[in-house]
Amino acid sequence: MTNLPAAFRAQLAGEACIGRLGVVGCRVSAAGDTTKYLLGLADGQSVETVLLRHDYGQTVCVSTQVGCRMGCRFCASGAEGWVRHLRSGEIYEQVLVAGRLSGVPVTHIVIMGMGEPLDNYHHTVAFIENISAPYGLHISQRRITLSTCGLVPRIRDLAQRGYGLTLAVSLHAPNNRLRNQLAPINRKHPLEELIPACADYAVRTGRRVSFEYVLLAGVNDTPALAAELAELLAGVHGHVNLIPANPVPECGFKAPTPAAVRNFRQVLERRGIPVSVRREMGADIGAACGQLRRRRPRGHKE
Ligand code: SAH
Repeated sequence: MTNLPAAFRAQLAGEACIGRLGVVGCRVSAAGDTTKYLLGLADGQSVETVLLRHDYGQTVCVSTQVGCRMGCRFCASGAEGWVRHLRSGEIYEQVLVAGRLSGVPVTHIVIMGMGEPLDNYHHTVAFIENISAPYGLHISQRRITLSTCGLVPRIRDLAQRGYGLTLAVSLHAPNNRLRNQLAPINRKHPLEELIPACADYAVRTGRRVSFEYVLLAGVNDTPALAAELAELLAGVHGHVNLIPANPVPECGFKAPTPAAVRNFRQVLERRGIPVSVRREMGADIGAACGQLRRRRPRGHKE
């Protein structure tokens, strides 16, 4: 575009790029409701994006980083380390590619793929603004959920922005001793910082916070811990979303028994905490929560 000043062209070449994410791999679950894409970035890296079909619409689960540096013990996304943040355009493209390939409009977005969105705060925020803007896909912020492992200062920053999105917080344990072991971020931002930040978020935005709790057999799935969780969350405008652990071979945790899930849920309900159990989708293709990674596992064929 020689009609633009040379200095501006040089600036554009240094800061911006035009391109699409290439589809490196694609797998469809046996149930047919989940599709996982491995998408290639311009620098040769790749990320996974998942498309979930529900009766109420179609959700895309986007990644925000190549790899992850939060180190949660039960999650595949950090198992191969962290490479880089995604740019907002690379997050946005995941939605476009998934929508285009499926041929069905995307109605909901969950920022729950690989990476920690609040560790890549500026690009994640730009993505939320662009995708919800009239000049973007115009997806209502009420149909966007952002999940974080608990970067407290960024939760407080986000609360100031007044978005209508749902904040989901990966809690996984009701006390610091256990949470320190499962999610190392807790050593930096312990529960006595995290829970008040979530409570403030709910008050400021009027939106109920969703507390995700991955149930790991024999580790955090006892009724006593459920009671402790109910106590921790008493008075917070939120609800608990239980996620029976999905298998990640190198992490070595096991899924809870159905009875353990039932009992855990019951204890919370009896103590007045709203609770739901997340429906598992795409575990057979490594597309379920905690299974996303930045390349195909060895020996894996599409
Ligand atoms: N970094 C963000 C976004 C990831 S979201 C976060 O931590 O919230 C993915 C959700 O799946 C998180 O709640 C995460 O804790 C959960 N998860 C990770 N590993 C899992 C596993 N093996 N089984 C089930 N859920 C898992």
